Amino acid sequence: MIYLDYQATTPVAPEVAEAMRPWAEEHFANPHSPSRGGREAAAAIEVARDRVDAAIGLSGGSVAFTGSATEAINWALKGAVEKAPTGRNRIVTIATEHAAVLDSCEWLAGQGADLTFLPVQADGLVDQSALEAALDERVLLVAAMLVNNEIGVIHPIANIAAAAHRVGALMLCDAVQGLGRVPIPDGPDLVAVSAHKIHGPKAIGALWMRKGAEPAPFIHGGGQERGLRSGTLSPALCVGFGAAAKLATERREQDHEHVERLWTCATTALGSEWIVNGSAEERYRGNFNIRRDGLDAARLISDLRDVAFSLGSACASGSGRPSHVLRALGLSDREARSSIRLGFGRYTGEDELVDAVTRIDAAARAQQDIAA
Ligand code: PLP
Repeated sequence: MIYLDYQATTPVAPEVAEAMRPWAEEHFANPHSPSRGGREAAAAIEVARDRVDAAIGLSGGSVAFTGSATEAINWALKGAVEKAPTGRNRIVTIATEHAAVLDSCEWLAGQGADLTFLPVQADGLVDQSALEAALDERVLLVAAMLVNNEIGVIHPIANIAAAAHRVGALMLCDAVQGLGRVPIPDGPDLVAVSAHKIHGPKAIGALWMRKGAEPAPFIHGGGQERGLRSGTLSPALCVGFGAAAKLATERREQDHEHVERLWTCATTALGSEWIVNGSAEERYRGNFNIRRDGLDAARLISDLRDVAFSLGSACASGSGRPSHVLRALGLSDREARSSIRLGFGRYTGEDELVDAVTRIDAAARAQQDIAA
């Protein structure tokens, strides 16, 4: 199997599995208990927290662990609304955000919040004039992702945060696909990240919060995470996230150069009939979202069972609906259904990528021959 679905999830790094092993097998004490084992586990969690904080790379804030980035995003949005000053009732976000943001916003609209969804241009980047026009003193929060999970485009987060701050609003950045891959610019007040996108374990995420911008607690109970997010932490998952974050920080240059080489291999190996979806420049290049006229992308995936790739986000692939991101770029239903996403990274070999891309190209041509 050639794995080209790095945006859905990434392989667990061997160093991460090794760091987690003792916490999964031997050390089982509750990290919130005052026993010696508990204190050791709590200390390991603090080391992990520092490593995640360092990988995020922003100053003036702190990290709380969550059960996923989806939870971190729900918490940030719902907890910010709960603490909103009178008169600030509007959330501004982008039409191409992840479902964790869009669906939380829809839920909040059901509770009385005002929503503005900003359009994107044909290259997938937010329309800056629409952003400026949407901002006034009624806006509580602007939510924007750093790297889009479906098409890889990189939003100008520093500009968006500065625009939000000019009207006194908070800025939430979904940096799930950016962490370890591109620098997180200074500016956001809240940042959501996830371990399994950086070669860490699943079911652990984190919310970075600027001091003073902490949302109201979302999960109540034993008062863990400074009373902000209750629930017993898993030392194994936290340590795994910390190890993954440390590796991502240490290998940032190396991983970046590898991904650049892979992008060149993939674009060179592909026939000229393929078009890249979204900006090719303002992009994380481990995300190769492409389309080809007349392609039945769903059939291509089932024809090539030993290459793992997807139609867009894992969620969009399951629903059978054309991707909301590709539609927001102005693509027709048909063009969206002719698009595939190839995601590669640290453990992808150049030869296997070229092999997979060549097979994808050949299978797409075969579809065309049958149709002709
Ligand atoms: N935001 C983005 C951009 C994502 O790609 C994902 C995962 O697919 C999430 C949020 C949700 O992350 P998690 O799987 O940790 O809930």
